[in-house]
Amino acid sequence: MVVLHASHPKDLDMADATFATPDLTTFARLDALGLRVTGQFLEPDRAVLACRVLDRDDTCGRCGGQGRPRDSTTRRLAHEPFGWRPTVLLVTVRRYRCDGCGHVWRQDTSAAAEPRARLSRGGLRWALTGLVAQHLTVARIAEGLGGFVEHRQRRGPGRRAPGAHRRPRSVRRGEGDRRRRTCLAAHPPR
Ligand SMILES: [Zn+2]
Repeated sequence: MVVLHASHPKDLDMADATFATPDLTTFARLDALGLRVTGQFLEPDRAVLACRVLDRDDTCGRCGGQGRPRDSTTRRLAHEPFGWRPTVLLVTVRRYRCDGCGHVWRQDTSAAAEPRARLSRGGLRWALTGLVAQHLTVARIAEGLGGFVEHRQRRGPGRRAPGAHRRPRSVRRGEGDRRRRTCLAAHPPR
């Protein structure tokens, strides 16, 4: 741990602050989403953070057996922007196969985002705070999310992103945040 002392403590009003080692995972508030940053790709107009899921999640939910990593998939999520720069999460999700019963499953990413969502929970919170508390326009929020917000009804059939909005109808109906989901229906981030 590195400890620094502010040279103008009165200005900063943090004379006793203890500075931890820089850590992109906690800076981007991804630890609360069950993710760890493994890489960054920065451009002037966007940042892409490569992430892994913290929880191994390798126990079979069907028989309790041990899962063996089979392959992995990638989930893209728009996250809250930092310094107004849109931030995209590129989450590597492991897929396992049970040694005992052959069941195949993916690591649980529900801490990071709702199933099928294209916004991380942090991105969603940022968007809602921007709308309600900061009175940002939807256009400004969309800009902050890298052009990620679009009314879902406007999506043409050809523009549907793989895996987007394919929730079973019964699940979709049962959710209380349907209106919010409609407003923040996602465009895949670049
Ligand atoms: Zn099993």
